[in-house]
Amino acid sequence: MNISELLARNARKFPNKIALIDGDVSLSYQEVDDTVNRLASSLASLGITRGDKVVLYMPNVKEFVYAYFAVLRLGAIIVPINARLTAQEVQYIIDHSEAKAVIAHEWIYRELASLVGKEDVIWLKTGEATEGWRSLTQLIANGDASPIVCPLKEDDEATILYTSGTTGRPKGVLFTYRNILAVATMMALETKMDKHSRLLHMMPLSHSAPLHLFFVGGMYVGATHVLSPTFSPEALLQLITKHKVTHFFGAPVAYLLTAKHPRLHEYDLSSVQYWTYGGAPLSANEVQFVAKQFRTNRLMCLYGLTEAGPNGTYLSPEEHATKAGSVGKDAALHCEVKIVDEQGQEVSLGEVGEVILAGEGIMKGYYKDEEKTAETVKNGWLYTGDLARRDEDGYIWIVDRKKDMIISGGVNVYPKEVEDALKLHPAIVDVAVVGVPHREWGETVKAFVVTKEPIEQLAEECKRFLSDKLADYKIPKLYEAIPELPRNATGKILKQVLRGMHNETAT
Ligand code: ATP
Repeated sequence: MNISELLARNARKFPNKIALIDGDVSLSYQEVDDTVNRLASSLASLGITRGDKVVLYMPNVKEFVYAYFAVLRLGAIIVPINARLTAQEVQYIIDHSEAKAVIAHEWIYRELASLVGKEDVIWLKTGEATEGWRSLTQLIANGDASPIVCPLKEDDEATILYTSGTTGRPKGVLFTYRNILAVATMMALETKMDKHSRLLHMMPLSHSAPLHLFFVGGMYVGATHVLSPTFSPEALLQLITKHKVTHFFGAPVAYLLTAKHPRLHEYDLSSVQYWTYGGAPLSANEVQFVAKQFRTNRLMCLYGLTEAGPNGTYLSPEEHATKAGSVGKDAALHCEVKIVDEQGQEVSLGEVGEVILAGEGIMKGYYKDEEKTAETVKNGWLYTGDLARRDEDGYIWIVDRKKDMIISGGVNVYPKEVEDALKLHPAIVDVAVVGVPHREWGETVKAFVVTKEPIEQLAEECKRFLSDKLADYKIPKLYEAIPELPRNATGKILKQVLRGMHNETAT
C-alpha cells in the first residue's frame, strides 16, 4: 500500500479529526489530505513522476508533511535530510541520490544558495518565489484537490534516508513500502497508539525512528501529531502540558537535558503513556535519573538502526524496574534478533558477539552500493556492527559498536563501559572514550571529559576514581578536558571528530 493512502483513508474515516498541530495552526485530516492532493497535482505538472527522487530539506513543520505525502502520492521517492546539514553535505546527497527536485523551508533555503542554478534540479521553497526558487505555497494554492492515487506494490521503493555518518560518509539507505509499514505498525502496537493518541514530534523527521516509527506509526492509527521545529527542554515541557501529549520519542540526550531543567516539576506530564528513547545508549544510572526526575515508570527503550527500519529490540516500561540499561530480551514485532560470533554461530549467555537482525523492516539495500549491501545483509540477516551479550535472564546489553572498540596491547576495551564508570564521578558531566594510536600497544585509551568546574590534575583524579571500578588496562591513560562533546544533529557523539582532535593536539 502507498503510505500516502494512510492519510487519505484517515481523511475519509474522520475528516474533521485534528491531524496536525503546528504552532497556532490546527489542521484536520481532510484539510491535510486536500493540501497534499493539490501539491501532488502541481508537482506532477512540473514533471515529477514515479521513481524520481525528491530531497526534502525542512524542519518539523506542516509543509514537511505536505511534501512527504505529495511526493509519495506520485510514486516518487522521498529523500528527507536533516535541516541542519550544510550546502556541501546537501550537495553530496543531491548528487548521490540523483535528485530531480529539492524542497526547502524558507527559514533555511539560503543555506543552499551556492547550489541553486548549478545543479540540474527543480528548486522549491515555502513562502514566496525568489530567484532560482519556485514557491511551494503557490503550487499548493494553484493545485487541483481531486484525489490522486498511484497504485504501488509493497516492494516498490519509497524512501532513501542518509545515515548521519557518525561512522563515515553518509550511506543512502533504501526502503520499500513493506519495510516502512512493518516498522510503523511495530511502533503503533508496541507502544499502544490509537486514534486518541497525541504524539509530539521534536526529533528531526528526516531520521528513521522519528519518521518511520513515530510519524508513520501515528498515521497508521490516525493519531494527532504535534510538530515542533526545534528541540529545547522548555518547549518539550510546554508542548506536552499544553496538548496533553500521550507519546513522546526522543534521543537519550533530549531526556538527559530535560531531566536537568530547573522547573521540570512545575509541569504536568501525567498525560504521557510512553516516553520512548533510543538511537544511542542510556546507562542504568541515567535511566534511573530520568525516571526519577520525570516521575514516571513509563520509559520505553528501543534499540535499532537506520538499516533495520529501524526495528530491533525493546525494553518495556515494566521491564525497566529490573533491567534498566539493557535493550530488552525480545525482538520487537516483525523482527528477530541473534547475537553471533565471527562464524555466524549464536554465542552462549554472557559471551560478547555481534547483534544481527532479520525481518520485514530490514532495508532493501544501500542505494547504489551493492558491495556494501552484500557485506551488511547476509541471508536476510543485517549485521549491525553492535557488540552485545545476554545476561542470565536472556536480556541484551549493548557493549559497544564494533568500530569503536579499542584494542590496546591485544586486549579489547569497550569505551561504553569506561564512559559509564566515569559518568559516576560527581564532577563529570559528560564523557567520551576513544582509542588513539600508540607506538607499542597499537592503541591506547583516551577520555575526553566535560566537567562542571575545572578539575585540577584531571588524569590523576580520574585514575584514582576508576581504580576500584575497572581493570587496569581499561583505565584511560590520557585525558583531555573539553567544554562540550561534538554531537551530530541527532545528539550522537562524533567519535571520529574526537580522534581528529587528539591527532591535532598530539602533532
Ligand atoms: P552511521 O551509520 O553513519 O554511523 P548513525 O550512527 O547515526 O550513522 P543510526 O542508525 O542512527 O546510525 O544509529 C544506530 C546505532 O545507534 C546502533 O547501531 C547502536 O550502536 C546505537 N543504538 C541505537 N539504539 C540504541 C539503544 N537503545 N541503546 C544503545 N545503543 C543504541
